Amino acid sequence: MANGSARPCIVAGNWKMHKTTDEAVTFVQELAPQVEGSDVKVYLAVPFTAIHPVKEAAAGMDITVGAQNMNDAKEGAYTGEIGALMLQDVGAQFVILGHSERRQHYNESSAFINRKVLRAVSDGLQPILCVGESLDDRDEGGTELTLKAQLMECLAETTPEQLKNLIVAYEPIWAIGIGHTPTPQQVQEVHAFLRGLLKETWGDDVANNSVIQYGGSVKPANAKEILQLPDVDGVLVGGASLAADTFAQIINYQTLETTI
Ligand code: PEP
Repeated sequence: MANGSARPCIVAGNWKMHKTTDEAVTFVQELAPQVEGSDVKVYLAVPFTAIHPVKEAAAGMDITVGAQNMNDAKEGAYTGEIGALMLQDVGAQFVILGHSERRQHYNESSAFINRKVLRAVSDGLQPILCVGESLDDRDEGGTELTLKAQLMECLAETTPEQLKNLIVAYEPIWAIGIGHTPTPQQVQEVHAFLRGLLKETWGDDVANNSVIQYGGSVKPANAKEILQLPDVDGVLVGGASLAADTFAQIINYQTLETTI
C-alpha cells in the first residue's frame, strides 16, 4: 500500500442518515466506473434500508457493504433494534461501532460497545471500532489516556483470534464534520500509539494486521497526505462520501496532487 505496509488500504464511506434507496443505487452506478481497477478497498456504511439495494447494485464489483450500528443481543424483545444476523441476511459484511455520534446522542458507553464488538465478531460481521478524543481531552493533554480507555474497554474480553479482521477508526471528535483536521504528525502519533496498544495487549499479529483508519473531515484536498502516513491504513469518510465524484477522488488519492 502507499504507506509501504502489507495491510490493505480501506477507504470507507459513512453515509450516516442520508440517501433513499434510489439515491443509494445511483451513487453506486456513478462510483463504479471511477474506481474500477483500484487496489484500494472500498467500503460503504449505508443506512439499513439501503444495504440490500446497494449490495445488488454493487454485484460483481469490489465494494463491501456494511451498517452503521447494531444491537448487542442476538435477537429478542428490543423494539426498533437490529441484530448482526439480520444485517448479514441483507448483505452487510461489516458494521461501524462506537461512532462518537452514537456515544454523544444515544449515550452509548464503552461497555455497551464492547458487547456489540463481541456480538459482531461472533456473528460474522467485521467491526470498524471508532475511538476519538474531545477537544478538551486534547487541550488538557489527555488524548492518549482517553484513547487507551476507549480501546481497552471496547475490546475487553476479546482474543487475538476474534480480532483478526479488526478495523480501528481514529476519529478525533473535534475534527468530525467541521472541516479542519489534526496535523499529519498528530495523526501518525496517535495511530502509532494505538498500534502499540494492540501489540502490548493482543500481540504482533493483531498489531500488524489491524487496519487503522483516520476519520474526521477527510476530503480530496487532504486525503493523499493522510493516507501516506506509515500507520494510516485507510480513511473513514463522512460528508465527502456522499457525492460519488468526491468519494472517487479520495479512493484514487494516489493520482491527487493536492495536499493539506
Ligand atoms: C464521520 O462521521 O465518521 C466522519 C469522519 O465525518 P466527516 O468526514 O464528515 O468529518
